[in-house]
Amino acid sequence: MHIDILTLFPEMFDGVLQNSIMKRAQDQKAFSYQYINFRDFTENKHNKVDDYPYGGGAGLVLSPQPIFDSIEKVKQKAEKAPRVILLCPQGEPYSQKKAEELAEEDHLVFICGHYEGYDERIRQELVTDEISIGDYVLTGGELGAMVVIDSVVRLLPGVLGNEQSAPMDSFSSGLLEHPHYTRPADFRGRKVPNVLLSGNHAKIDEWRHYQSLKRTFERRPDLLEERKLSSKEEAWVQEWKNS
Ligand code: SAM
Repeated sequence: MHIDILTLFPEMFDGVLQNSIMKRAQDQKAFSYQYINFRDFTENKHNKVDDYPYGGGAGLVLSPQPIFDSIEKVKQKAEKAPRVILLCPQGEPYSQKKAEELAEEDHLVFICGHYEGYDERIRQELVTDEISIGDYVLTGGELGAMVVIDSVVRLLPGVLGNEQSAPMDSFSSGLLEHPHYTRPADFRGRKVPNVLLSGNHAKIDEWRHYQSLKRTFERRPDLLEERKLSSKEEAWVQEWKNS
């Protein structure tokens, strides 16, 4: 996968992309990335990339020209049209399902806004996806792009050491993940559940499934609304509802 990041603040990304699993993923050639500072494309003689909004009001709006020209350059070099993602609080709420969808692509382009917003023609003409990372407002799209990149790259083949990890994660299975324990078996009187020490893998799987469903029922019942429960799961849910 190749990722182009249109941003005025490329150095914001270095800490995330140059460490830990993201760094290892590049060393393994799972993905590469390039920053495109769209200020380099501006035709404004004062190097400006934004301007006052027509109709008045507070804040500055990103001008179309530098972003249109940056994207055209990216597209000229690409073999096929990339997904062009606009980070935006008005976008589609980001989810694990969307991360899985984007992980199938070869080429992603992120446009990180700043200031009051974008000229609407950027959204209308250039963008294939608008993504919001939550119902709150950030100062810029960089943090949102980092969240999306991290969650997509970790799904690329070979990036996570243990191939089992991603499918078991919260949301991938439609449920929150079960609790984890590690050594010691008794920490200040708090004991690890016996079943996890039993070596009986069928029982451990059943315990994890139960805990995963229970945690989802308690913390995110909305996730269960669309799930078709098995008869065993239905019985567990009834038990918790009655308790
Ligand atoms: N005036 C805009 C509005 O009300 O929709 C908010 C602009 S915000 C201050 C500046 C930039 O931060 C946005 O253009 C977007 O790139 C980014 N941003 C802010 N909140 C975001 C969110 N929840 N998800 C993704 N990007 C966000």
